[in-house]
Amino acid sequence: MPNKSETSTQPAKTKPVYTQLTLDFLEAVLGAQKGIQAEVLRICPDCNGRRIRPGVASSSCGFCRGTGQVLRSRAGAKAALRDCPGCGGRGLQAQQWCRRCGGVGLAKVPISMQIKVPAGVQDNTVLRIPSQGDLPEGRNKQGDIHVVVAVQELEGMSRRGADVYSIVSLAYPDAILGCSTEVGTVRGQRQLKIPAGTQHDARLTLPGEGVDYRGASGATHRGSHHVTVNVHLPRNVTPVEKAILLELFAMQIPESQQV
Ligand SMILES: [Zn+2]
Ligand SMILES: [Zn+2]
Repeated sequence: MPNKSETSTQPAKTKPVYTQLTLDFLEAVLGAQKGIQAEVLRICPDCNGRRIRPGVASSSCGFCRGTGQVLRSRAGAKAALRDCPGCGGRGLQAQQWCRRCGGVGLAKVPISMQIKVPAGVQDNTVLRIPSQGDLPEGRNKQGDIHVVVAVQELEGMSRRGADVYSIVSLAYPDAILGCSTEVGTVRGQRQLKIPAGTQHDARLTLPGEGVDYRGASGATHRGSHHVTVNVHLPRNVTPVEKAILLELFAMQIPESQQV
């Protein structure tokens, strides 16, 4: 069983450093190598972690004689060691503190690095980068960086989980007679077969053209691309078209009599 002093020397977990990363729609779907920036605590570059201003001779705090702690008692309580009010626990005279780090020896510095964004991340996903964050005051293990992902929209395509959605516009003869049309998916252009008699608002699916996701078993699956059909009806027709349409309607066999 650990004794009390061992438990108390256990360093507190360093808080993560947060940073933002914007991805376009396809980067989020397919994964990407991206650069991130963050501000993290490191050994102060001005004083090299020595806490005193460069070129200034170190002299100890007069209150605590450099220990950083003083014995103080409150009414009714036993005297205990507390951070020295003269130096805030630093042990150095305030005039000597490094200006950049305020005598702590650690300062925020900008860093940048490349990270691998996995395929299929969603808006507001938090990517955890271990041991690249703040260096704590004890100067032991660095904390983590948490990258909050923002995914940009893409005109004409939307996504829900692993499935992608888009709309295809068809001329009405193509919907009636059937055709093959090209559809833009996250994996490139694909041919979609429109069956004869496809109705307005019908949904057709290109299986396996969606977003990768990890199932409960750990295996990778892929969602689908769903296309909603928008049958385009012309607002105006030429006199010739009108004559043909009237002729067509005159000879149309009622649906009840169709075989
Ligand atoms: Zn410093
Ligand atoms: Zn002091």
